[in-house]
Formats: sequence, C-alpha cells, structure tokens
Amino acid sequence: MADVLRILEDTAIGILLLLVVYVPLERAFPARKQRFFRREFVTDIGFLLGSYLLFTGLVTLALRHVAIISHAQLGDAPWRQALATLPIWVLLPVSLMLGDLAIYWFHRACHHYEFLWRFHRVHHTTVDLDWLAAHREHPLDGLCTQFFLNLPAIVIGLPFHAIGGVIVFRGIWAIFIHSNVALPLGPLRVLFGAPDLHHWHHANVEKTAHNFANLAPYWDVLFGTYHRPPSPETYPLGVPDGQPESYVKHLVRPLTGPAARVWGMRLQRGARNSVAASSSGAGRSQVAEAARTVADH
Ligand SMILES: [Zn+2]
Repeated sequence: MADVLRILEDTAIGILLLLVVYVPLERAFPARKQRFFRREFVTDIGFLLGSYLLFTGLVTLALRHVAIISHAQLGDAPWRQALATLPIWVLLPVSLMLGDLAIYWFHRACHHYEFLWRFHRVHHTTVDLDWLAAHREHPLDGLCTQFFLNLPAIVIGLPFHAIGGVIVFRGIWAIFIHSNVALPLGPLRVLFGAPDLHHWHHANVEKTAHNFANLAPYWDVLFGTYHRPPSPETYPLGVPDGQPESYVKHLVRPLTGPAARVWGMRLQRGARNSVAASSSGAGRSQVAEAARTVADH
C-alpha cells in the first residue's frame, strides 16, 4: 500500500513539474499554433498515466535485472576491471554516446522492419506534438528503447544510481524534443537535437527515414540521415493511415493482425506515393521534402 501511495505521489509531482516547465515554455516559444487541450488529448493522458503508474516501474525493474545478470557474467572480465578504474566523468559521456549509437540503429530498424514498426508506429500516430505527446509510446517499444539506450552503460559497468540519473536525463530530453517549442540552439544543435529537428522525424509520410538519434544528432550526420530544412513548421504530422484511437486500442492493435506480418518483412518504401494531403502549399512541399529523404535512404 505504501508503494502504491509513493507511485501516486511521484506521478503527481512529475506531472506538476512537467506542467510548470513546459506550459510556459510552449506558450513563450511555440513551434506551431496549438491549444493546450489539442486533438487526442485524452488518449495521451492515458499514455502519460500508463507510463508513470505502471510501465516505467516495470522497465526499471527489467533493467535492474539485466544489470545484475550483466554484472554476474562480466564483472570479473579484465576489460571490465580496467574500465572500473576510469573516473565517472569519462564513463558517463562514453555511455551516453554508445547508448545513442545503439538506439540510433534500433530506431532505424523500427522504421525498416514491419514487426518493429507496428509497435513503434503508435508513437508516430500523434498529429500534434507537445510535452504530452512524448509519452505516446507502446510499452513494448518503450521497453526495447530503454534496453538499447542503457545497454552500453550496463555492459560498461556504470553504477546503477548513475544509470538511473542517465535515464531521468534522457527522459527529460525526450520530452523536450517532442515539445511544441522552437528554441534556436545555434551551433549547439549538432551536439543536442532540438525539437525542430525531431519534429521532422514525425512528418506525415509513409515512414520517415531521418533523425533517428535520441539525444544528439551527430550519428545522423555520420550515417547520412540528418534532415533539417530551414523552413518553418507547417507540414502535417502523424501517419498517412492514422485515425484517432483510444489508449487501449493503441496498446492492443500491434499485438493483433495478419500472421504474415512477421519479423524480417521489410517495409514498403513507397513514401513518395503516400504523402498525406496537406492543407497548405507550403505544407505540401515540406512533406514532399520529407518524403524525398525517405526515398533516398
Ligand atoms: Zn520513429
């Protein structure tokens, strides 16, 4: 009972902090004109509560077990012993960089393989991006994402409290890059992925093929998937075949469907033909631009 109360209390404090930080930020520097109670607000409240009340705890538990197993299997390895002598200020950035590399390829695979896409697609169904939309994620997609993000830190042997700090930092950053905020970061944008960069990843084309990195875009630059046109944000977001669905339906749908959709099936790359209709000329050309990059990669 005490645990339940603690989870409820943490959730309430977390949501309050998000409101205090992001509502003024989105009002002061909006990327798009958007109401607070925007489309599918209730659905995303479901994702928010599901994440904080249930799935975050389960993911943390799973990662803790992975860390325990990793330590038992690798703890005595000479290379691990050597790494343990390095200071935390060396291990931490290395873990972050390798975590970003791991998630880059997992995220890219999610856009490439049908089996992974059907779970990851849930995250892309949002038609309005803001601090709340960041929580729209299928729990299995979220579990795999956290696994790949934190695997390098676990294998390197970073203490679990340090990994916990990294998870929180990454979580805050993930919310930031989805927020409806336009903040000019200048040259820092190569080091830190800004919201305007990640918003292009949510452009309404068949499957976007750019901006896969979580924290920093240099892996996208290196692997040729960096995409940031200088134009303002007027292009539509979401998926071409998307439609409003309840929270529960979003959770269940990826678990059902034709048996033919199995691991290894490649996604169709007909993005050019699947560009969603846009309400404005500028939006149309921007989406076409996004689609072009899909076809190019
Ligand atoms: Zn994606």
